[in-house]
Amino acid sequence: RQQLAEWDQAGREQAAIRAAEQHLMQPWPAAEDIGAEARMYLEQAEGIMVEDGAGNRLIDGPAGMWCVNLGHRHEGIARVLYNQAMELSYCSPWYTMSKQAVELSQRLAAHAPGDLNHVFFTTGGSSAVETALRFMQFYNNVLGRPEKKRIVTRGGAYHGSTYLSASMNARPRDGDWMDQARDLVLHLSEPKPAPGLDAAGQRALTARLAQEFRDLIAREGAASIGAFVAEPVQASGGVVIAPEGYLREMRQICAEHDILYISDEVVTAFGRLGHVFASEAVFGIQPDMITFAKGVTAGYFPLGGVMISERLLERIRQSNHPEACFAHGLTYTSHPIGCAVALKVLDLLEAGDLERVRRLEPLFRARLESLRDLPIVKEVRSIGLMACVELATGKSDAASLAIEQKMGKRVDLHCQKLGLLVRPLINMCVISPPFIIDEAVIERMVAILREGILATIADLQAEGEL
Ligand code: PMP
Repeated sequence: RQQLAEWDQAGREQAAIRAAEQHLMQPWPAAEDIGAEARMYLEQAEGIMVEDGAGNRLIDGPAGMWCVNLGHRHEGIARVLYNQAMELSYCSPWYTMSKQAVELSQRLAAHAPGDLNHVFFTTGGSSAVETALRFMQFYNNVLGRPEKKRIVTRGGAYHGSTYLSASMNARPRDGDWMDQARDLVLHLSEPKPAPGLDAAGQRALTARLAQEFRDLIAREGAASIGAFVAEPVQASGGVVIAPEGYLREMRQICAEHDILYISDEVVTAFGRLGHVFASEAVFGIQPDMITFAKGVTAGYFPLGGVMISERLLERIRQSNHPEACFAHGLTYTSHPIGCAVALKVLDLLEAGDLERVRRLEPLFRARLESLRDLPIVKEVRSIGLMACVELATGKSDAASLAIEQKMGKRVDLHCQKLGLLVRPLINMCVISPPFIIDEAVIERMVAILREGILATIADLQAEGEL
């Protein structure tokens, strides 16, 4: 019977792969892969484990996409989803509002830094960033400075897949084959310290990057720049942790030039760095807006939002345009199910999960840093419960660099066979496990990662690359 069940499952997986190839368009496909790139077929998951079509159980190293922060099959969250669907499954944000949306707005305002007392809910991260940017445009229109609209972004940034948000993306491939609103976007360097940079080096780098921003403003004119957008830690760029003091410097420069500072906390908020919002708690800054998504519902419902400063709304109210309308809203803005789930997630975070992330952080970092002894590990970056292991062959000829570009994927494939999912990004492996992980699973996860890297080293040696 067990054998039959396994065959059944294998049959379902094969059928699913064939159907996906014919009908399911996956995100970020290369042209050559469209219709030929089946992804791992999952039927169920529980806690920090997912189960593939063949019944193999794997540790969910990236917590889905940095979002399943409280684990899969969470009974308490599932109950909230069901109960809310039975109580009030939807209400139009155009002319009604739910108890859940109002309560969530209050609680988020209490957690947000400074006067970020208002929230506009969206359907995810891209729509949150898009909303923040459109709000910046509206704000400057109302204040009578329609030319103050350009947006400053940094190398390595990722902010979403809608047109304005995607226009800021600045990782390899982001703009190669896709249009971006280039006339609206200005670029600064990626704030990425060299491996092992000491404190003095970090301060010097911060000073250089701040000067780059000042020079850009002097060249382009503050009157043309509406916003600076920054992830506190560049997530999809490979967990890039800016040099000490950098975010505070950038915040200060924005304030001097009346440029809105938008902190994109789609990944870092809701516990990933041990706090509901990280901007102030971890980096000591009070932005003008904070975007969030992902962890707000621990991946159980699509929800995002923008925290907006009271001061900005006050300036709009004080303008002499009472008729000015922020013509922006989504059918699912303030969705009651999403808000109910977020309230439950906040309860859980406040009840212990934030504290748990802060407690696990040093061990998580230390265990991952222990991988530095491996010859292809170039750098390990880690903060909160997010980390990136960057790999390099140490050679710089074109053929070796081409191999390096696929090293993340190679390690991931080895790790999958050993029972761990990692998120491969070019020559990097990203790990951002659910917060419910414990010390023993951290050890297990890093042990598998080590084995996966060792297997990759063996492959490279066999190919004569090392
Ligand atoms: N901002 C950041 C920092 C992100 O990492 C992401 C997604 N990874 C987004 C925005 C876009 O969010 P979504 O995919 O929910 O639209």
